[in-house]
Formats: sequence, structure tokens, C-alpha cells
Amino acid sequence: MRLQDLPAALLDLSATHCRRQRAVIDSPQGVEVVVDGRSYVSFASNDYLGLADHPVLVRAAQQGLERWGVGGGSSHLLAGHFSVQQQAEEALAEFVGQPAALLFGSGYAANLAIVSSLLDRGDAVFADRLNHASLNDACRLSRAEFKRFHHNDLAQLERLLAESKARSKLIAVESVYSMDGDEAPLSALLALAERYDAWLYVDDAHGFGVLGDGRGALAEHGLSSPRLIYMATLGKAAGVAGAFISGGTDLVEWLINSARSYIYTTSQPPALACAILASLRLIAEADERRARLRESIETVKSGLSEFKYSVGASRTPIQPLIIGGEEQALALAARLRDQGLWVPAIRPPTVAAGTARLRLSLSAMHQPEHLQRLLSCIQRAAAS
Ligand SMILES: *Cc1c(COP(=O)(O)O)cnc(C)c1O
Repeated sequence: MRLQDLPAALLDLSATHCRRQRAVIDSPQGVEVVVDGRSYVSFASNDYLGLADHPVLVRAAQQGLERWGVGGGSSHLLAGHFSVQQQAEEALAEFVGQPAALLFGSGYAANLAIVSSLLDRGDAVFADRLNHASLNDACRLSRAEFKRFHHNDLAQLERLLAESKARSKLIAVESVYSMDGDEAPLSALLALAERYDAWLYVDDAHGFGVLGDGRGALAEHGLSSPRLIYMATLGKAAGVAGAFISGGTDLVEWLINSARSYIYTTSQPPALACAILASLRLIAEADERRARLRESIETVKSGLSEFKYSVGASRTPIQPLIIGGEEQALALAARLRDQGLWVPAIRPPTVAAGTARLRLSLSAMHQPEHLQRLLSCIQRAAAS
């Protein structure tokens, strides 16, 4: 892209209904947000348990700032690894039932770390087609052969594994797919990993805090194996920021020594580790929030199934309403916005062409009247 090409490229994005604009939020994250001076009921965040603005987390972060100051100041390997971060790593590992854990500044960085520290030329990664962009970038950056299989297609994955001559193999999946809300068959995937001497890497960005009584997808499915590598982000249900990778102690030690996205970056502000520790305690005690969330999911799923749009097979807080065309999806989102409902339209390239959708993201803090408003507005739009 040359400087003089930028205006036309931007116009082209607008013409194809693919130009992205950021809404400027003027309130804390939550089910009610203020945008441009107007309040909306939001179905847009991944703050599934409503913890992002929880007073206990806010206080933990404030106390952390008093105790530790603001900046991390250095990479973990130089002088930026704080005792409170060490403590958070131990608590995270124990919480998800793994021997060790390593904190990262973001899920994006964690995904880059795993794939490029375990795989090199001559190795292969086997990735679900619906994997998150950060996982795909990670696979491309590593020099390994990048094999993609159709979504949740175990037979195709097995064929690819069987014919592969790669030395080191890694299967990369999400526990809950971020734009469809459906889940990976983790037990069967682990069985394939065992059979073909591969790692199984599970990105649990949307399961942590929600599935397995909050302990995530491995707890939900009762899985444990030295071949399993677990990653969860801490900016979604946990309500804070960052991510962690969890697995065997040798694996974590190897990452500390080889993961460039771990080594060549400044550590998270240490006060965030105080918020993460507080968040873990809240997540462990959030059965009531998870029960309310399950009720909301049921209400929305059964409500949506009566409309002309197609809905996915999701039992998670991510409920897609597949519209098809970009323009139609944007028009429906705009109509809901007029009614005070903030629901993002998701377009290609985030999802496949022809599957533009509204992505409804539910929170334990949504009230029955929020859900009724949403359903009746969609119903009116569907009828017209
Ligand atoms: C959000 C997300 C990430 C990235 O995590 P960040 O902490 O936001 O960088 C990775 N994987 C999946 C599946 C996600 O949804």
C-alpha cells in the first residue's frame, strides 16, 4: 500500500460495507454502556460474569497500585517479574488443575508464544478452520507446515495426522469458538493427540470463568494429560487483562527460555496481578452468576429460534444470529441501535463471506427485561 493509495482503499472498504469504526465508550464496561452521550443495553462485550467493573476487583487493583506502583518497567527476564505475579501464576495453575502457569500481556501474545516456541521448520500445526485470527497468525509466523481442517472435522484431522511426516505436531483448537459459540470435541481431540504423538493446544478464551464451574474447558471435560497445553485470556470473563498458558513445568520453563512474545516485552503492570488474584476468588464463588447466565442463554436461544434467521448450535454465552449479507447485518445492527441496543454486526474477513451476523454476547448481569427488549426488537425487524 502506497501513501497515495490509502484514500481509495478506505473508500473501497466503505463501498463494500466493510469499513470498521470504533464506538467511543464513555462508561465502565457492563450490560449498560454510554456511547456518544446515549445509554445502551450492550450485548457486545465478553465480560460474561460482569466482573470488569466489580467493586472487589476495582479495590484490589487500587490496593495493587498503592503497593506496586503503575509500570512493570522491564521484561520478566530482566527485572520485571514481581512476587505478586509469581503468586498469580501459582494460583492460576492450581485453579485450572495444571502443574504450572505463565502470565502474558495478552492472549494474542500467548498464542504467538506457544506455536513458535514448540514448532519450527519440519514440524506441523493442525488448526481448526474457525480458529481465532491470533492463532492463525501464530501458525503463520512459526515456520511449521500449517494444515487447516474443516471445523470440528475429526476424520479429516486424523487423515492429516496419519499422513504427516512432521517431527513435532501440534493440534490447535478453541474450546468455544469466538464467533459461533459452539465447542470443540476436546476428549476426542486429546485421543487423537495421544495416538499420533501430538500436542493438543486449547485456547479457552471464552470458556474460562464460564465452563467447568469457572475453571474452564479442561475441568468441564475432566481432561488432563502432559500433552495438553491450556491457554485462557484474563480480559474476558475474568474482567481484567492479559492471559496465561498452563501446562507441565518443563513446558513453562521452555516458554520462559524461548518464547519471543514473552521475552521481548515489558511485563504487565504488577497491580493487575492483584486484580487477577481477586478475580480468581470471585470466579470460584460465582455459581449464582453462572446459573443466571445459563438462564439467559436458554431464554435467548429459545426466543431466537422462532425467527427467520438461522442460529448456531451454541450453548454458551456467544449466540450468533446469522444474517448473510454484510449490508443486511449492518442494517439490523443499526436498527437495534436506534432502539437502544448495542449488538455488533460481524462481517468478513472475521467470518466467512455470506455469513455476516449479529454476535450476541450474554452476561450474568443481563436482566430479564433486557432480554425481552432484545427479542422483541429482533422480532419486529424480522417481521418487516
Ligand atoms: C480474544 C481472544 C484472543 C486474544 O486474547 P487477548 O487477550 O484479547 O489478546 C485469543 N483467542 C481467542 C479465541 C479470543 O477470543
